[in-house]
Order: sequence, then structure tokens, then C-alpha cells
Amino acid sequence: MPVGAIPFPFGDCRICNDKATGVHYGVATCEGCKGFFRRSIPKGEKYKCFFGGQCVISPQNRNRCKACRFKKCLDTGMAIDGMIFQILHSKSC
Ligand SMILES: [Zn+2]
Ligand SMILES: [Zn+2]
Repeated sequence: MPVGAIPFPFGDCRICNDKATGVHYGVATCEGCKGFFRRSIPKGEKYKCFFGGQCVISPQNRNRCKACRFKKCLDTGMAIDGMIFQILHSKSC
């Protein structure tokens, strides 16, 4: 959390329900999910869910399953320019 951060009226993170710090890549998210999404873009395809693909992402367990967290980012509409479309189109399933 940056020093001097003030509460923004963004409500909860759309990904993990932590406190959102702003609109990042098109969606109101927390700093954690913002960073996670940015880091995930180049390697999003490698994530695999070990829990059936139905994980509920919360501030407590959001680091447990990268696959479902990243999927939720995509489902929620997060996107970095055209990169996301390349990832989606390169997937076969
Ligand atoms: Zn979050
Ligand atoms: Zn999962």
C-alpha cells in the first residue's frame, strides 16, 4: 500500500474481494491482483487448477490457485492492450 494512500470509491476488488485501490486494466482491483495480472500475461497459459477449476478467490486464498485467479481476471474483463486476445486465441480449450 503506498504511503499516504487515501480511500478510493472503488469498492471491493472484483477478483478477490479485497479492498480495490483503483481501476487497473479496465477493472477495479486491489494492488495484489493488479500485479498478479500483469505478471501473469506472459505465462497465463501455464497455470493449472488443482481443485477442479471452481476456486472461490478471496484475500485469504487468492495465492493458492493462479489458474482460477487469472481466469477470473479474464472473465471480469481485465485486459492489457491486445495481449489478452493473443492468449485467448492461442488456447484450444
Ligand atoms: Zn484482489
Ligand atoms: Zn482453481
